[in-house]
Amino acid sequence: MRTLQIDDRLFDYLQAHAVREHPAQTALRAATAGHPHAGMQIGADQGQLMALLVKLLGARRTIEVGTFTGYSALTVALALPDDGRVLACDINDDYTRIGRPFWAQAGVAHKIELVLAPARDTLDARLAAGEAAAYDFAFIDADKVNYDVYYERCLSLVRPGGLIALDNTLWSGAVARPAEDADTAALHALNRKLRDDARIDLALLTVGDGLSLARKR
Ligand code: CA
Repeated sequence: MRTLQIDDRLFDYLQAHAVREHPAQTALRAATAGHPHAGMQIGADQGQLMALLVKLLGARRTIEVGTFTGYSALTVALALPDDGRVLACDINDDYTRIGRPFWAQAGVAHKIELVLAPARDTLDARLAAGEAAAYDFAFIDADKVNYDVYYERCLSLVRPGGLIALDNTLWSGAVARPAEDADTAALHALNRKLRDDARIDLALLTVGDGLSLARKR
């Protein structure tokens, strides 16, 4: 059986019967809804899946590449123990500042270290500081042409048995058509690379806009 089509009625059913959110998550989604790039925010169902994975991993140290207005960082932080940490990488203060009051509202601001710099530099600095294999989970959701750069860094930073989640790997279906832009070409090339990458176990979920899960062997 193929993944079923989610029409509006079924989407609403899922929101009503399967989604659990902290009030700060609901409020942050509402605060982002009118944003011109609101479509960059992950869905509540995907956040709930990521929170479950973080708990299954027993994760304490996590990475996020691409924070936008902070919903996914908030969601992962809520799933972590009190001494857990999210290294949140972004370059846009205008976006991330929208989320910070909600991190505080949820009482998890102390778990989120936001670094406003190119993620490649931030991740390289962590590797240079001896943090290879020091992380349990990474979520990659930033500029698509650099996904492979982020994936390789995160694969070094995550421990064996740790998990890397890559967002938008189906790219509204565009990956299955001849690539007409650099983003689509990069995601298609990465999908092929992940399929053949013996360093990981792989599942590409048809959740949201496609979510690839890569478990480091
Ligand atoms: Ca995304």
